[in-house]
Amino acid sequence: MNQNKKTEVKVCPECNSTDIKEKGNLIVAGNIYRCNNCGHTGVLFPVMAWEDAKKLKVKTSE
Ligand SMILES: [Zn+2]
Repeated sequence: MNQNKKTEVKVCPECNSTDIKEKGNLIVAGNIYRCNNCGHTGVLFPVMAWEDAKKLKVKTSE
């Protein structure tokens, strides 16, 4: 039994969205992530358990 479930997700510190895309190609800083919801870009996206992240209220800018 090897369940390889996705148990952790990155969460945007600005809007709590879990719709995070890894940009990754920058030589300087290593992995860079971008939030697809609010456009926040950075390296410091907290990782949360998927179960907890689901409960967060995602802020929408509109
Ligand atoms: Zn965001």
